[in-house]
Amino acid sequence: MSGKADPRTAGEGTTSRTRLERGRGALGPALELVHTGRAPTRAVLTAELGVTRATAGAVAAELEALGLIRVDARPGAAAGSQGRPSHRLEVADDGPVALAAQVHADGFRAALVGLGGRIVATAPGCEVVDADPAKVLGSVVETGAELLRETGRRCVGAGLAVPSAVAEPEGLALNPLHLAWPAGAPVRRIFAEQVRAAGIEGPAFAANDVNLAALAEHRHGAGRGARDLLCVATGHRGVGGALVLDGRLHMGSSGLALEVGHLAVNPEGRPCHCGSRGCLDVEADPLAFLTAAGREPGPEVSLLQQSYDLIRDHYTDPAVRTATEALIDRLGLGLAGLVNILNPDRIILGGLHRALLDADPERLRAVVADRSLWGQSGGVPILPCGLDHNSLVGAAELAWQPVLDDPLGALG
Ligand SMILES: [Zn+2]
Repeated sequence: MSGKADPRTAGEGTTSRTRLERGRGALGPALELVHTGRAPTRAVLTAELGVTRATAGAVAAELEALGLIRVDARPGAAAGSQGRPSHRLEVADDGPVALAAQVHADGFRAALVGLGGRIVATAPGCEVVDADPAKVLGSVVETGAELLRETGRRCVGAGLAVPSAVAEPEGLALNPLHLAWPAGAPVRRIFAEQVRAAGIEGPAFAANDVNLAALAEHRHGAGRGARDLLCVATGHRGVGGALVLDGRLHMGSSGLALEVGHLAVNPEGRPCHCGSRGCLDVEADPLAFLTAAGREPGPEVSLLQQSYDLIRDHYTDPAVRTATEALIDRLGLGLAGLVNILNPDRIILGGLHRALLDADPERLRAVVADRSLWGQSGGVPILPCGLDHNSLVGAAELAWQPVLDDPLGALG
């Protein structure tokens, strides 16, 4: 062997190595573009990444080889279009999934979620939520493990959504007020233990349910394209909020930002568990709505479902209509304060708040406009959340994130 490198092959080696490195660095951004629907074709991918066609082609081929996306090299040409259509890019139908879990005041739900925020399979569990988080999380993980066995899919990791602020970096559920869990329960550690015990591969994560809903809506739903996205939503009980800035959740210094449920909207209102009075949490959640409508909440279905049913089936009942308007006014007052402070470019509403918006959009928009400085000048778009089970989809996003950051490192 000669010690002297052939200058031609050395040059070629450098070029192909450089291309490989550049290509590897582009795998994550490319996957995120396909995942969020922003690169439906190879031509768009090439333009979005700012790379050559050859690099984009190699990147797409690598993601396809990892089983993450499907490249359709022979898509049907659009009617009237000229020339050869660009290769279509889609998330793989049979690719890996993330295990998503959600615990709420009335039970839990497990799901398998593929790329693109697609729910592949889901199963609810309705039960009185046990005071021991390990029991509940064991049940929801077992339900998810059963779905994995049924579908035979590869699992990239697991994410959990809880109706509580989750303190970082330890992953503690600080105020699971509507569950019987102890305050400060180490939910991330417990969830990770249950995931490992069930033989499920990959890392495990946990976060607040409305934060996760906002993340999912920003990537796949009504929040797409917003730069300063404010999400306000009710779960089964209480009210939560989240802010997505330039695609990232605003967490605050220790994960506890956007506790919008404790904005006071009715100084004479009912006492709140936070020590204040008349907070959104107790004035604009499903229990507050049912109470305002003079309904005795029954045990048969969740308070959220009873509220939906009431608005859908009995809106002509004056008591229901008055209660709806009262909650819209309280919610609007809270949103007006948030608009002044945060200056969002879009607001999305979930849970009961979405149903209130659907029932009387003009009233809600008028309250926000009349009660806020920035609401008056042109107004902030207020839209309903667009995804089913957005907290679950968001929980899956946590588990997908390492793959989105480095597909080859996570799966190769
Ligand atoms: Zn409060």
